[in-house]
Amino acid sequence: MTYDVAVIGLGGIGSAVVAKCAARGARTVGLEQFQPGHELGSSTGKSRLIRKAYFEDPAYVPLLLRAYDLWRELERDTGEQLLAIIGLLMVGEENASIIAGARKAASAHDLAIELLERREVLARYPMLRLLPKELGVFEPDGGVLVPERATRAHLRIAAEAGAELRFETVVKRWEAKGSGFEISLADGSRVFAHALVLAQGPWLEDALGIPLRVQRNVQAWFAPESASYSFDRFPPFLVERQNLPAPLYGFPDFGDGVKAAFHAHGAMTGIDHLAREINRDRDIAPIVAAMEEWMPGATSSLLDAKACPYTLTPDGHFVLDRHPDYPRAVLCGGFSGHGFKFAPVIGEIAADLALEGGTPHEIGFLSHRRFGRSNLPK
Ligand SMILES: Cc1cc2nc3c(=O)[nH]c(=O)nc-3n(C[C@H](O)[C@H](O)[C@H](O)COP(=O)(O)OP(=O)(O)OC[C@H]3O[C@@H](n4cnc5c(N)ncnc54)[C@H](O)[C@@H]3O)c2cc1C
Repeated sequence: MTYDVAVIGLGGIGSAVVAKCAARGARTVGLEQFQPGHELGSSTGKSRLIRKAYFEDPAYVPLLLRAYDLWRELERDTGEQLLAIIGLLMVGEENASIIAGARKAASAHDLAIELLERREVLARYPMLRLLPKELGVFEPDGGVLVPERATRAHLRIAAEAGAELRFETVVKRWEAKGSGFEISLADGSRVFAHALVLAQGPWLEDALGIPLRVQRNVQAWFAPESASYSFDRFPPFLVERQNLPAPLYGFPDFGDGVKAAFHAHGAMTGIDHLAREINRDRDIAPIVAAMEEWMPGATSSLLDAKACPYTLTPDGHFVLDRHPDYPRAVLCGGFSGHGFKFAPVIGEIAADLALEGGTPHEIGFLSHRRFGRSNLPK
């Protein structure tokens, strides 16, 4: 059989793409090299930040507003709780990029944020340590997504809508043939589809031709000394400080410890060489030091840690576009450590591009053309 669309990769993003394509009645196949829920990609680790006042670029805000609606719709359709909207606290000096950027996005899109002076942050959260010039931005619509549950929910919706989901199925290569694509699998068989979506996360490295780099990022979980960092008293956070190697972010204790990590900080590597083992001195000690200067008592003992890949583009923005040579092939990658919250809207856009040839969403700023196209594969 020839499918309307084949999606390569069923992580956080590909699972949303198959769900959106199948929901439109398209004959959809998803091809995934590992088992569902595997932990080798970028979509696991129990929690992901979701927020609207997007310091990275206000152009993401319309996509975020749609993503919030679609996450809520997925919750309704599956009966699963995927989101905990408990607010988000951002702290830094007035000109820190997360503070200035969040305020700029909020003002451009009329989003609700609270600007808190240092003393107001400390009045709300007396256990914290703030530096003299720091202030806070509290976003009430910020919160936490459970990535494993979200991916499972999208896969379930896709299967219920008739998508064929093939796990332990390695795609070796694809090429344009006739009015579509021939996809060769590692077992020697082939799949034919009129449209193709490449959602391969850190494995897209070689396929895209855009200079993507895989970065090893460590997330760690700690037992806090007291209950003051539990989710009903303390929000997820982002902190930017000059003495830190990168912004520090984390999550309150939902029952499995306080989680913390540096955003986009770690060795550049390749997905096949990513060191999965954790080195306490190199990986954990810097997180503990930064946390103790910000949330004293939050990291009293290490519970768990995990090294995960970011797939970085040169400018930190996604690539979401049609392939320049094959308009029915959709490039969906380079999420640069901040893509999960967008999964359902990316699924919707990829379905638009693959099945309709265009999308009403404003995605020009995510075009691959910004990198030039000289080395895109034919
Ligand atoms: C530590 C960490 C923290 C993060 N924090 C946040 C956050 O707070 N908020 C946020 O919004 N985002 C966050 N992100 C980013 C977000 O999680 C990622 O952008 C998103 O999960 C990427 O999903 P993906 O589907 O593109 O990649 P993946 O989940 O890696 O999925 C790609 C899939 O493609 C499959 N695949 C690849 N090649 C082939 C092939 N040839 N054949 C078959 N299958 C193939 C892989 O097996 C894999 O399952 C974070 C990322 C990390 C690593």
